[in-house]
Amino acid sequence: MTRRVVPLQSLYMESRFPLNPNEFPWRLSVQYLKGVGPKRAALFDRLGVKTIEDLLYFAPFRYEDRTAVKTISALCQGAVQTVSGRVESVKLIVTSRRSLKIVEAIVTDTTGSLHAKWFNQPYIKEVLKPGQRIMLTGKVTTSRYGTAYGTDRYLEISAPQYEIMDEEETQIDRDGIVPIYHETEGLTSRQIRSVMTQVLERYLTLLPEPLPVWMTERHRMVPLSQAIREIHFPPDGTDMNLLNEGKSPAHGRLSFDEFFFLEWGLALRKAAETHQEKGIAFIVSEEKVRQVKSLMPFRFTAAQERTWTDIQHDMASAYPMVRLIHGDVGSGKTLVALMAIAIAIENGYQAAMMVPTEILAEQHFLSLQPYMEKLGKSLALCTRQMKTGRNEGLARIESGEVGLVIGTHALIQESVQFKKLGLVVVDEQHKFGVMQRAHLIQKGCRPDLLMMTATPIPRTLALTLYGDIDISVIDELPPGRIPIQTILYYSNQRERAYQWMETELKKGRQAYIVYPLVEESEKMDLKAAMSMITLIQETLLPHRRVGLLHGRMKREEKEGVMRRFKEGAIDILVATTVVEVGVDVPNATVMVIEHAERFGLAQLHQLRGRVGRGREQSYCVMVAGYALSIEGRQRLNAMVKSCDGFKIAEIDLKIRGQGEFFGTRQSGFSPFKIANLLRDATILEVARKEAFDWVHQDPKQTQPESLLLRSFMEKRLGGTLESVTTG
Ligand code: ADP
Ligand code: MG
Repeated sequence: MTRRVVPLQSLYMESRFPLNPNEFPWRLSVQYLKGVGPKRAALFDRLGVKTIEDLLYFAPFRYEDRTAVKTISALCQGAVQTVSGRVESVKLIVTSRRSLKIVEAIVTDTTGSLHAKWFNQPYIKEVLKPGQRIMLTGKVTTSRYGTAYGTDRYLEISAPQYEIMDEEETQIDRDGIVPIYHETEGLTSRQIRSVMTQVLERYLTLLPEPLPVWMTERHRMVPLSQAIREIHFPPDGTDMNLLNEGKSPAHGRLSFDEFFFLEWGLALRKAAETHQEKGIAFIVSEEKVRQVKSLMPFRFTAAQERTWTDIQHDMASAYPMVRLIHGDVGSGKTLVALMAIAIAIENGYQAAMMVPTEILAEQHFLSLQPYMEKLGKSLALCTRQMKTGRNEGLARIESGEVGLVIGTHALIQESVQFKKLGLVVVDEQHKFGVMQRAHLIQKGCRPDLLMMTATPIPRTLALTLYGDIDISVIDELPPGRIPIQTILYYSNQRERAYQWMETELKKGRQAYIVYPLVEESEKMDLKAAMSMITLIQETLLPHRRVGLLHGRMKREEKEGVMRRFKEGAIDILVATTVVEVGVDVPNATVMVIEHAERFGLAQLHQLRGRVGRGREQSYCVMVAGYALSIEGRQRLNAMVKSCDGFKIAEIDLKIRGQGEFFGTRQSGFSPFKIANLLRDATILEVARKEAFDWVHQDPKQTQPESLLLRSFMEKRLGGTLESVTTG
C-alpha cells in the first residue's frame, strides 16, 4: 500500500484494549445527543445520519486550513486564499444579455473591503445577509471600475466557497484544519462540527478495534479510533492535498475497513458455497479437447486458452464451478463455452445454455449446431414462444437424448426437466437475476456454472460485485480485427450520417439504424422508428431495402427479418435495442445510433459491437440531439475516443459514480461511505487478499480474533453485507 507511514503513537496501544463491540452504542439515535433533539435529528436524517454510528462515519467532503485565514489587506493577487469578514451589502446583478446573473457581496474587515462574486447562483442573494460574519475561500484578483473621478481598483474574490459563522464562534472554527460537511437547510457544517466534537469526546474511547495489531502494523495503518478522530479533525500539519483527495492515513484506514469487511463476507460465502457441497468431478480427456479444437477453423487466442485452462481445472475438481468469463464483445466467449459443453456431454451429462433473447438463442443454436453434429450430439432450442413440437422437445430433454439445450428464461419453467444436468452456461449474465440462475441450477444436482458477460466492468467493481465468484478475463480480440471507427453527429447533420451509410451500402455492405426504446414512451418511439423507415424509403434512400425489428414483433416475423438480413435481402435494418446482444452479421459495417445520448455507455458499447465482426473497416455513427447533458456529452466522447470495453467501463464508473453500480439504480446505494473504487484500487486488492487469507486460515471462524471481527461486523453492517453481495 502506498500510504504515508504513521508513527505508532501511544494511542495506538491504548486502543488495543479489546472492547466488546456489543457495548458500543452503535444504534443510539443522534436525537439523544446533547444539543440535538428531535428537530435537529430530523435534519440529520436528511443527510442520512440516524445513529451515532452514521455520525462517526459521516466524513467531511472537504477540509479548509484555517491557520491560513488572512485579513483583507494581506490578500495577494492570483492565489486561492481564505479570508474572513463581515457582509456589508448584497445585490443581484442581471447582465444586459439576461443570461448571466451575478450575486455581488461587499465584505469588509478592519483592514479593507473585498467584492465577492458568484455567477448564476442567484439563491446566494437570499442566503447572505448584511451584518453576517462570513468565511470565504477562493481566487483573489483585482478589478477596475469607473467613478466620477476616474477609475478605481478593487479586490475581488470570484465564486468563493463560503461559510456563514455565528457570533459566538468557537475555537474549533478559528484555527487548525477545519472539516466541511454536506449541509442541509437548517443544519450547517459548523453545527455538525460542534455535535461531532461532542460525540468524539464522549464515545470515541469506547469504540472497539476490529482488526488485530499484526494486521494494522503490517499495512502501517492507524487504529480505528484514531482514524475516526482524524477524518473529522485532522492534526495540524496534515497534508491538505491528501486530505482533500481522500488519501490521508485516516481515509486509508477507513477505506481498508470497508473493503475488508465486504471481502471477508464474500470469502466466507464462497467458502460455504463451494467447499462444503460436493459437485461433479468431470473427467477432462485431452483427446476430447483436441477433437473439439480441431473442429474450429482457427486457433484459440492466448486469453481464450487461459480461460479454458481455468474452466478445465474447475470442471475436474470435485467442487462445483462458479465462474464468470468476462470478455469484450467479440472476444470469442461462445467457443470457450462450447469446450466446456463438449466435456460435460462426453461425461454423460447434459448442458443448458441460457441467453436473454430469442434472437440470441436462435443464433447460438445455429452457430453451435454444426459443432454438435460433428460431435454426434443432439441439441434442442427451448424458448417461450416454442409451440410446435414443444412436448416432443421436452420429452427428448427429459429422456436425456438431448445433450445441449439452448434457451431463454423459458428454460426455468417447471415443465423443463433434465435427466442429468451437469453444466449450466449463462450468456450475457448481467441480464439475469440471481434467482433465475438459481432456478436453473436446481434442475441438476450441483451442476457446474459458467457465466459470461460482455459488459466489461473495472476490476475493482468485479472484485466487489462478484467477489465470491471466480473470474476469467478474455482481454484480447481474435487477430485481424479492425477497430471500429466512431463518429459523432448532431441531429441537424443527420444527412451526413446517412451519406456515410450510403457509401458503405454501395460497396455491398449492410447497415443498422438503432432507435432507443424507453419503456414509458415505447409506442411513441416505435412510431418514430416507423416514420424513420418511411423517411428513408421515400426520401433519403428510396432505392434501399429496409427492414424493421423490434421486441413486440411475433417470433416468426422477427426470425423472418433476421434471416433476410443475414442473407443480404435487406440492406438496412432499423431496430430497437433487441439487437444489443449477440447478433452476428459480419457483412453489416455501419451502425447508426439515433438519439445516442439516451443510451448508457455500456449499452452504446454493446450496440457498437454488432459491427466490426468481419474483415472490413466498420463504422459507428452516433446521431445526438442538441439537449445534451454534460454526462451525455462525456459518454459520447468516450465512445469516440475508445473501442476498449474495459476502458469504457472505467470511464462509465467515473461518470456515474460507484453508487450507481450497486443495488437498485434508483437508490444509488453504495456500500462504501469513504472508500472509492477508482481512488482506492490498491487498498481494495490488499484488503481482499487479507480477507481471503483470513478465511482460508480459519474457515470455521473459531479463533478469538475471528469472533471479535464477526461481532464487530454484525454490529456495523447489519444486513447490508447480504444485500450487497447477492446483487
Ligand atoms: P462473444 O465473446 O461476443 O460472445 P463470439 O463468441 O460470438 O464472441 O465470437 C465472435 C466471433 O469471433 C465469432 O464469429 C467467432 O467465430 C470468432 N472467433 C472466436 N474465437 C476466435 C479465434 N480464436 N480466432 C478467430 N476468430 C474467433
Ligand atoms: Mg456472445
